[in-house]
Amino acid sequence: MSTFLFSDIIFGPVKSRRFGVSLGINLLPCDRKLCSFNCIYCECGWTTKNSSKTGNGWVDALTVETMLEERLQEMKLRDELPDTITFAGNGEPTLHPQFLPIMKATIALRGKYAPDAVVAVLSNASTAHRPDVFEALMLADSHVMKLDTGTEETYKQINQPASATPFAKILSNLMLFNGDLTIQTMFLKGNHDGHVVDNTTEKEINRWLDYLIQIKPQLVMIYSIARDTPAGDLGIVEKEQLNIIARQVEKAGIKAEVF
Ligand code: SF4
Repeated sequence: MSTFLFSDIIFGPVKSRRFGVSLGINLLPCDRKLCSFNCIYCECGWTTKNSSKTGNGWVDALTVETMLEERLQEMKLRDELPDTITFAGNGEPTLHPQFLPIMKATIALRGKYAPDAVVAVLSNASTAHRPDVFEALMLADSHVMKLDTGTEETYKQINQPASATPFAKILSNLMLFNGDLTIQTMFLKGNHDGHVVDNTTEKEINRWLDYLIQIKPQLVMIYSIARDTPAGDLGIVEKEQLNIIARQVEKAGIKAEVF
């Protein structure tokens, strides 16, 4: 399958329904994916080093700051400032060893050039218990955290986490936000490694809803596969079914949107 990597540190802007005009920051190496998960649907392909340890190829904080400032200057001159500055890219952005200073610089540059822009982080929540990471996340305006299931078994099957990240750790990390977060959930069906994968069953949805009620997110973003996946035998969940799931979330008193 044809997955892809972001080849730039500052990328876009891209227009997205979720984030409007979004200028992306990719803190991961441009030539490979680095993540504490190895999701079977990841649009960046398989994680080659399934570890949350730091690797080679990190861009330094000053370079990120300089490149972001140059891009924001250009965008300001053209009067095309972004709605969102989004930390995303080739893996898990919070793994960058200088995530906190980079976040501080980003917040300062946002204030200088694009005060109306929202600073957002897309994360799998595996590092949120680290004080430096949590401090950085709290500086951002929008914390979009992944929760694809309510069961340990399906978490291991879909997200294929590094061994040091049990499901209970993800749940306790999500609770740290005290409701100041958005949950994003990918729904899919198919087969992987000789086993059926389906996080839309009644049991799955009920357990996932139970955790959502405890986590109390401001919003749940629901979506299905839109691009090629590294696992070859996965299929999308139709919009109609995603809408039914969204209504169940709303019924639990939590806002939900289908993308
Ligand atoms: S957490 Fe995100 S970047 Fe990491 S493997 Fe999953 S989809 Fe890919």
